[in-house]
Amino acid sequence: RSGFVTIIGRPNVGKSTLMNHLVGEKIAIMSDKPQTTRNRIQSILTRDDFQVVFIDTPGIHKPKHKLGHYMVKVAETTLNEVDIVLMLVEPTPHIGQGDRYVISELQKVKTPVILVINKIDTVEKQALLEVIEAYKNVYNFAEIIPISAFTGENCDRLLDVIRERL
Ligand code: GDP
Ligand code: MG
Repeated sequence: RSGFVTIIGRPNVGKSTLMNHLVGEKIAIMSDKPQTTRNRIQSILTRDDFQVVFIDTPGIHKPKHKLGHYMVKVAETTLNEVDIVLMLVEPTPHIGQGDRYVISELQKVKTPVILVINKIDTVEKQALLEVIEAYKNVYNFAEIIPISAFTGENCDRLLDVIRERL
């Protein structure tokens, strides 16, 4: 099995850390140059039974920039063309403007979105349950997976879920 996955989320939420944990720097193809005008390959994960190409979604993770019509289209096109969207968030029940904007964009696409709540090494179980509840109320996520990209906790589970949906 193989497929395309994009990881979206605000700056500092842990996208690079997760990518490095999943793929490992040795076999990661990190590229800052656009592969096409649309999007870019960030890295490729190869396992015995499946392969995942991680694609960057330009624009949607840069809420500080005013997105022009073109950038919005580009982001939307990428979100539609990948097999899975991973939306990475901080483990807080307060959903900020930036994440609300992203969620409003996700309403327009049909691709399954997996909510990945990162940095669970920094919160208590009860607090995590509140985060899960908060996100359940704003979008119908295909799955909600709490992880720590830092310690690797539950990252295997995330990979299992990705593989099942390719
Ligand atoms: P990006 O901007 O989304 O690519 O975020 P980075 O991967 O650069 O991570 C931003 C900061 O969060 C770094 O200092 C990471 O070490 C930290 N970080 C990432 N994942 C975790 C995690 O699971 N737990 C903790 N405690 N820190 C994390
Ligand atoms: Mg990064």
